[in-house]
Amino acid sequence: MAVTKKIPARLCLGCQQQHPKKELVRIVRSPEGEFSVDLTGKKAGRGAYICNNKECLEKAFKSHGLDRSFKSKIDKAVYDELLQQLLSE
Ligand SMILES: [Zn+2]
Repeated sequence: MAVTKKIPARLCLGCQQQHPKKELVRIVRSPEGEFSVDLTGKKAGRGAYICNNKECLEKAFKSHGLDRSFKSKIDKAVYDELLQQLLSE
């Protein structure tokens, strides 16, 4: 059993810790500029990663993690929308 698969890790914008990609959700900005939670990891657009929990999304909001990641000001309404999508899963 010498097969060690390297699990791709990504930095969570909330807690600033590396986590295996599959434990994170992808926040994606479409070419039209709309943000959504991408649970398939296949949506087109620029993406950022966050733990699949409310706390990390709130941390990301407070630290402006998404703002930095997408290099633009993200509205509170966008975070609220993302939170709704996250909680509906
Ligand atoms: Zn996190």
